[in-house]
Amino acid sequence: MRAVVVSRTGGPEVLEVVERPEPVAGPGEVVVDVEAAGVNFIDVYHREGRYPRELPFVLGSEGAGTVRGTGERVAWAVVPGAGYADAVVVPEDRLVPVPDGVALSDAAAVLLQGMTAQFLAEVASPGDTAVVHAAAGGVGLLLVQLLVDAGVQVVATTSPEKAELARGAGASDVVAYDEVVERVREATGGRGAQVVYDGVGRATFDSSLACAARHGSVVLFGAASGPVPPLDPLVLMSHGSLWLTRPTLGDFVAERADLLHRAGEVLGRVRDGRLSVRVGGTYALEDAQRAHEDLEGRRSTGKLLVLPR
Ligand code: NDP
Repeated sequence: MRAVVVSRTGGPEVLEVVERPEPVAGPGEVVVDVEAAGVNFIDVYHREGRYPRELPFVLGSEGAGTVRGTGERVAWAVVPGAGYADAVVVPEDRLVPVPDGVALSDAAAVLLQGMTAQFLAEVASPGDTAVVHAAAGGVGLLLVQLLVDAGVQVVATTSPEKAELARGAGASDVVAYDEVVERVREATGGRGAQVVYDGVGRATFDSSLACAARHGSVVLFGAASGPVPPLDPLVLMSHGSLWLTRPTLGDFVAERADLLHRAGEVLGRVRDGRLSVRVGGTYALEDAQRAHEDLEGRRSTGKLLVLPR
């Protein structure tokens, strides 16, 4: 079986397709034949060594497929090593069932980013105004839909050519990154946004603080443009007694009951047509490098998938 392996950290060129022995499940694990593996920014951080892992490792942590032997349709997320490969080993307690009516490729496309969008959306309340940066991205498009569905007004940022997608997801304003502070002030009568969602990081963080209302929340959930430098907590006071959080999905699905609940809600929305999933590109295992170049190069919209078969 083939897998995309990282044996030294670096740019997309370090990704190699390697022939490996068939995986063998240990106690409490199953082998899953992978139909689709999700491409996520954390794969970039792992590949670069920004989040260090023991080398060599199979890249990816999300996917969907069928359990070998039973044919059960399953998906998983936040399982490092269970990603870009023909077959993977997954602990049984990390698997979630994929409902009838949801394609395995859609399950792989939505699980990680959908559960992320879901816990992020819980920070805002109906009637709030929220800023969503990179709103035409994987997390972004899902987050805008969930917020709008919950009665939150969304001011979004995107590259200009992606603005229509963010509008289609329900954002009431879509602006360039350098216009967002001014636009949010206009849209809120000068008050600012109750919640600012920032997965871009270094390039947007200062404007995220400046967009937030007094007592508002800045939710820094990623670093697509690079990490935010260390900051003096007094900055939060000077911007209006802000709350700053830096959450990660793993902490919201650590308990099996939470994983099942969150996955059930996200996949149920997809099945019922209440959450639309945009697959922005699919790649063979051999083209995983290109998937990373597209994601990092801001050429992607929605979700990118690696399809081993
Ligand atoms: P996206 O599909 O959102 O891709 C990143 C987007 O960020 C780009 O398309 C681009 O959109 C925008 N961007 C702005 N500046 C830059 C830059 N300098 N370099 C690259 N991209 C830039 O990716 P994901 O949906 O996979 O992830 C979004 C963020 O969410 C990432 O930071 C990721 O780490 C984080 N994340 C966090 C999780 C958590 O648990 N905390 C879980 C999942 C994801 P545009 O062209 O419109 O500017």
